[in-house]
Amino acid sequence: MANNCIFCKIITGEIPAYKIYEDNDFLVTLDINPVNQGHSLVIPKIHFVNIFDAPEEITAKIGPIVKKLAQAIKAGVKADGLNVVINNDQAAGQLVPHAHVHLIPRFEGDGFTHWHGKGGETPADFANTQNSIKKVILSHIFQDSILLAIDS
Ligand code: 5GP
Ligand code: ZN
Repeated sequence: MANNCIFCKIITGEIPAYKIYEDNDFLVTLDINPVNQGHSLVIPKIHFVNIFDAPEEITAKIGPIVKKLAQAIKAGVKADGLNVVINNDQAAGQLVPHAHVHLIPRFEGDGFTHWHGKGGETPADFANTQNSIKKVILSHIFQDSILLAIDS
């Protein structure tokens, strides 16, 4: 529980919420300002900020819960599709610094558009970006993993 964290307060019941699901690790509630009817947030019960400081134990459980709730929400509001979104850090649009996954039901013609590619990357730009990321992967993140098998 972090001081003055809105989502910690929802978890303890200090702030009311339209909960749709709860287990030992997660609470799922309707978003207070929904993009579309049924827009929900999957909120881990322990406080951490986002994907960058997420405990492995919780990240391993996110896939199954997101799948179940996505199916339930899509059926529950008779949506045509659904976006799964996580905003990580302010530059990516994260406003509440307690990790959460948005489940956003989508309806044909609802008018929301996705971001568009800027275009203009040259093959050299792609190769530079590829190398920068692969360097980090090879040297830090997946040191002991099967991903070492990718071209270096
Ligand atoms: P973020 O930009 O951090 O990914 O999204 C935060 C989301 O939390 C927003 O969609 C916002 O509407 C929602 N939100 C903020 N305060 C509350 C609240 O008190 N209750 C609920 N249910 N949702 C909230
Ligand atoms: Zn919190």
